[in-house]
Amino acid sequence: MDTSLQGLQPIFAPRTVAVVGASRNRRSIGYSIVHNMLVNGFTGAVFPVNPKAEVVHSLKCYPRLSAIPDPIDLAVVVVPKHHVESVVDDCIAVGVGGMVVISAGFAETGPEGAVRERRILEKVRRAGIRMVGPNCMGVSNTDPSVSLDATFAPVTARRGSVGFVSQSGALGVAILNEAAALGIGLTQFVSVGNKADVSGNDMLQLWHRDENTRVICMYLESFGNPRRFTEIAKQVGRDKPILVVKSGRTDAGARAASSHTGALAGLDVTVSAFLAQCGVLRANTMAELFDVARALDRCPLPRGPRLAIVTNAGGPGIMATDACVNLGLDLAELTDQTRQRLAEFLPAEASLANPVDMIASASPESYRRALEIVLDDPGVDMALVVNVTPLLEDPSEVLAAATEGAANTRETKPVLAVMMAKEDFYASIHGRDDLLPVYRFPEPAAVALGKLERYARWRRRPLTTPPEFDVDSTRVREILSSYDEGYLGPAHTFEILQAYGIPCVAWQVAEGAAQAAEVAEALGFPVVLKAIAPDLVHKSDAGGVAVDLRSAQDVLEAAETMTRRLAEVGHRPEAFLVQRFEKGGHEVIFGISTDPRFGPLLMFGLGGKYVEVFGDVKFAVTPLAEAEARDVIGGLRGHALLEGVRGEAAADEEILVDVLLRLAQLATRHPRILELDINPFLARPAGSDPVALDARIRLCPS
Ligand code: ADP
Ligand code: MG
Repeated sequence: MDTSLQGLQPIFAPRTVAVVGASRNRRSIGYSIVHNMLVNGFTGAVFPVNPKAEVVHSLKCYPRLSAIPDPIDLAVVVVPKHHVESVVDDCIAVGVGGMVVISAGFAETGPEGAVRERRILEKVRRAGIRMVGPNCMGVSNTDPSVSLDATFAPVTARRGSVGFVSQSGALGVAILNEAAALGIGLTQFVSVGNKADVSGNDMLQLWHRDENTRVICMYLESFGNPRRFTEIAKQVGRDKPILVVKSGRTDAGARAASSHTGALAGLDVTVSAFLAQCGVLRANTMAELFDVARALDRCPLPRGPRLAIVTNAGGPGIMATDACVNLGLDLAELTDQTRQRLAEFLPAEASLANPVDMIASASPESYRRALEIVLDDPGVDMALVVNVTPLLEDPSEVLAAATEGAANTRETKPVLAVMMAKEDFYASIHGRDDLLPVYRFPEPAAVALGKLERYARWRRRPLTTPPEFDVDSTRVREILSSYDEGYLGPAHTFEILQAYGIPCVAWQVAEGAAQAAEVAEALGFPVVLKAIAPDLVHKSDAGGVAVDLRSAQDVLEAAETMTRRLAEVGHRPEAFLVQRFEKGGHEVIFGISTDPRFGPLLMFGLGGKYVEVFGDVKFAVTPLAEAEARDVIGGLRGHALLEGVRGEAAADEEILVDVLLRLAQLATRHPRILELDINPFLARPAGSDPVALDARIRLCPS
């Protein structure tokens, strides 16, 4: 273990804890912390520190840290903000092993607080000790050999296998409550507060090595170091699932965006793409986090996407089917043998195809048997039990029977239960972790199964590094260095694409109308004429594009009309871009948009006018492996269009994957590229050449 992680040891498994700022006032945080430690049976010794008290919570109280005779592993600091710094000095002087600073009034309050925070951080860093907080709710560790609850929360985490880190202290209380109610046990809970030192990244690494932690849950408001998070999460995710709720979703307009990619790529989109690619499951709400967490906690990962539904009512069965199919799961095809086995005990009215509808008369025993039989089917990877309580039946018996029916396959096939029952039923399963995870409605259960399957699929995928293309980076660097910032001219833009092996339409720049006509002759008719003018970004909107010109005369006339129309909107063409007129194929868009912290974001979607109307695009971050690029291309809602509808030939997707990977390399090697759009790119069937027809590149200042 590296030394910085070793430094967390005294914080999570201390033998001695000093509570600096312990208080006799039962309503204070300084009291609650001592109280929680005592009532939850901390296995080490607690030393309250407060110069104004002799005794706190029946414990002898010390006036200062240095008065404590024992060496201190962990100091929990709850003094007012202006005293924190001198307490930190004391902690370092007596040689504490680690610190949790509960006190608020630091970076979260503004620049002045940030200065205070930086000062204490420098001190702990220099002393080589780790600090959780400031501005946090504390930490707990349910390991019975430690049994530490150094939080001021009114609820205590129960033992289990989920590591939970929360960036919000207030939410921490709600998290502990909800986890307890749903029977989700924790290994450790950490409220990281301002994350001055210990961050979510540290916890990921710690829990990666902790064999008791099987699932990692995080409530995050910000990523301190997103790139580092990616690296760590990709590794940790191979061994255990990471489930994240990231708030602060409405950060979008933060960047200047004049390209399509920039406009479509809000920060939240970036965060989603980046989490998905490192295998991290993102929950949209706290409720969803708990829905998924209890499935991850109690179920194995599915081996595939094939789902069986066992229900006693048609409607809820259909709702469950819809929800699951929409989330990408497949309804399993049950074998004849499975159906026969079901027919042996189910009434004639029952439906033996999936969903298996046992009708309202289904007994707990029918649930047990039916579930066992469908789970025995080799074509079933997971199951959903759906139960609507009929008159006189006890849903608890159904749940118990279903749990039994799933027992044989509990190591291989996840099973969730949708129990549509009365309130007293839910109260009766409060805190139970020995039953199938229960959901009130089909949709949240479907979401949970969908996420399990998605994570399992990500984990099955072999780790590959992005391909490296042999490209002319020197030429690209030369071009980029000739610009201070802003848009590249069209000739340079196409040159860069070509240097990276991206196929482009035949093009040439002409100084004036006459030269354009000559160039057109050389390229061969028909051609397209485009105006080049400073700040002319959306050319066709301003009348700056004329297509399908068939003669020199056409070109001359188009140049004249174009110049006139552009003048009306205040543009003066400096030159013309002449291109071969390309027919046939699907217009798609490729893009790059670089976020200063997350790095480059890549985009692919349906292009041309479709971008504006449908916004059907997919995002990915670098490093981009081939399989990931394939997911992007195949993941479009309108993907069927590329596959060819009504007898059209399918576009060659291999080339699209190739272009996306080349752009990823371009973006990675040349971070000055702030935005890039290729729109349209003509995707075509294998055998005919696909081409980029239009592109723009915007640079950030060098
Ligand atoms: P802008 O996006 O600045 O308006 P484009 O160069 O993309 O200008 O041209 C607008 C549209 O004209 C494209 O979306 C495409 O449909 C068509 N177009 C542009 N260049 C060609 C070309 N070389 N061959 C065929 N069609 C073209
Ligand atoms: Mg365009």
